[in-house]
Amino acid sequence: MTDPRVPIIDLEAQYAPLREEIEAALASVMRTQHFIGGPEVAALEAEIAADCDAAHAIACASGTDAILLALMGVGVGPGDAVVCPAFTFFSVASSITRLGATPIFADIDPRTFNLSAATLAAALELGPRPKAIIAVDLYGRAAPFGELLDIADAIEVPLIEDAAQSLGALDEAGRPVGSRGRVGCFSFFPTKNLGAFGDGGMLTTQDAELAAHLRRLTNHGAIARDDHPVVGINSRLDALQAAVLRVKRPHLPAWNAQRRVNAERYGLLFEKHGLSTGDAPMLLLPDAGPPASSHAFHQYVVRVDARHRDALHAHFAAHGIDTMVYYGRALHLQPCFAGLGGRAGDLPEAERAAAEVLALPVHPELEAAQQERVAAVAARFFDTLPG
Ligand SMILES: *Cc1c(COP(=O)(O)O)cnc(C)c1O
Repeated sequence: MTDPRVPIIDLEAQYAPLREEIEAALASVMRTQHFIGGPEVAALEAEIAADCDAAHAIACASGTDAILLALMGVGVGPGDAVVCPAFTFFSVASSITRLGATPIFADIDPRTFNLSAATLAAALELGPRPKAIIAVDLYGRAAPFGELLDIADAIEVPLIEDAAQSLGALDEAGRPVGSRGRVGCFSFFPTKNLGAFGDGGMLTTQDAELAAHLRRLTNHGAIARDDHPVVGINSRLDALQAAVLRVKRPHLPAWNAQRRVNAERYGLLFEKHGLSTGDAPMLLLPDAGPPASSHAFHQYVVRVDARHRDALHAHFAAHGIDTMVYYGRALHLQPCFAGLGGRAGDLPEAERAAAEVLALPVHPELEAAQQERVAAVAARFFDTLPG
């Protein structure tokens, strides 16, 4: 009898087959006693740049730092405005305010959870010309950069890509995330599709001059010892983290492919149980995106009627199935941003998503039998709903 518990992620199962290789890689770094930067970090930068079709990659300490550094790199400072989605991880907006700039929150496309040309255009009408725009590839789905760049380029505003959830994903034109904007930002937080044994991040860009500037910014703005033309921060990747990531990285395409297989299997299972079909389906399932694209399914997020979402979440928990609400509050309604004047009703799709989303386990180690249990437990919930 297999363990009926279904975890949201299973890092132990991922680690088991790689253990010897990872421990050997860690041991070899320890023997060199070279812990910051060095050949492991340089090699990882070259590999991630190649994976993303980017000319340059610069390692840093976290995904949050990558966003902060990208904003600094394009010159965002006090008094500037930066457009970002209202429905995403918190650090997208906090990185803007840390620099003394002001976020202008944009609504999302309800089908993709990402910015669209329409929601970006609407946000641009709200305020002054921004200094930058951040588009997020949420849940592993590439934001539609074709249409977003048309707008950003026309007003000559740099488009920064937060690809923290989507390493390995392709967009509607088959281009890898991290290749398309002025700067791409990645996270190696342990639960990301490519996760380190702690924090880590990466920046990508096609621009050699900007790459040199970003690299300086990660190292106190220094170009040489005792020579700081600008003020930067301290944000670097450990050699130990790079060594772990370099063992895992070759497996990422297969892991992402297995996530897509799992997503497809949920589609069939929920259809079989009658939960995703009909005029008023109980679950609205994510789609895999346009034909040339490739979804990294960092999260498999369904929509549930807001009246039932929290009860379904609790029902899953009662049956040992971990599900998560990413994200339960739109950013313009966060107390810390109340001073910006955001009100309920301003960005209806971001607010509706916050009330309806539920992320189900989709990690590559998930077994078919576990997915069948998830679907059966969901079906029982809706069967017993009164009315
Ligand atoms: C994880 C994440 C970040 C932050 O990355 P950290 O490495 O945790 O700092 C930023 N944006 C998005 C969309 C993320 O998912």
